[in-house]
Amino acid sequence: MSDIPSIDAVREATLVEPKKAKSFSLKGSDTRGDKLFESKKDAKASLEEDALAINELQDALFACKTGSLLVVMQGIDTSGKDGTTKEAFRYTSPLGVNVFAFGKPTEEELAHDYLWRLHQRTPKTGYIHVFNRSQYEDVLVVKVRNLAPPKLVEQRYEQINAFEKLLCENGTRVLKLMLNISKEEQGERLRERLEVPEKRWKFNPGDLEDRKLWDQYQAAYDTALQRCSTAHAPWHVVPADSRSRRDAIAARLIRGELEAMKPVYPDPGYRPEQYEIG
Ligand code: AMP
Ligand code: MG
Repeated sequence: MSDIPSIDAVREATLVEPKKAKSFSLKGSDTRGDKLFESKKDAKASLEEDALAINELQDALFACKTGSLLVVMQGIDTSGKDGTTKEAFRYTSPLGVNVFAFGKPTEEELAHDYLWRLHQRTPKTGYIHVFNRSQYEDVLVVKVRNLAPPKLVEQRYEQINAFEKLLCENGTRVLKLMLNISKEEQGERLRERLEVPEKRWKFNPGDLEDRKLWDQYQAAYDTALQRCSTAHAPWHVVPADSRSRRDAIAARLIRGELEAMKPVYPDPGYRPEQYEIG
């Protein structure tokens, strides 16, 4: 028998409990994921099953249009934001899922409040949207690199909580995944990007500058997770040193979130026998 942890077990193991979030630290958080998935084989089998279920759940969600799902993917360079998205949604119809990456803001975006560009990309009912980086960059890179006055950054945690509450109260569930990779594993992956010809395009010398600020980024993540793991939109820390375990854990959480929305195909409002196709 394979050893696949229940969705509840995965949720509990990764949750930043809102009531205890004040004392949260990435220092004590798992990066390996082998307590949840002992073997990679189990992780791969679980992912396969969940990816199929995610497609079916999204299809039903699109049909019943009872709500939408926003998956926020955060994590430092090489933590696997793209890879996790690719694998968890490997069978989801492109009609139902949209992915948005938030990089350095454009001039137009900078001329608005920081949430403006995000709010424009939140999902309509029936859809799943994935944010590859998100509103959290405005309390992470912006804080670490001093891109805005500290006083403004300080106000943002509460603003982000209010923004996510607004989404939740209006039918969008928010699932926040922090992909937690160790510094050693990041070193390996950056080396791999330089060595493997097909991966060289991903290398950005700026990533090395961010790597030098590792401790500052970890501290900024601690603060964001402490202050923004709320009852309406809690954070989950996904161990990300092993790609297959990371993908399997994320897929369990995404499936759990969709199941909680209980999408069911709606009554079509007619009896099929009423019609005869000539
Ligand atoms: P990548 O995800 O590797 O394509 O890189 C995107 C880059 O954009 C990262 O270095 C982010 O830190 C940066 N970025 C994202 N959002 C912001 C923001 N609000 N302000 C400044 N830089 C940002
Ligand atoms: Mg990058």
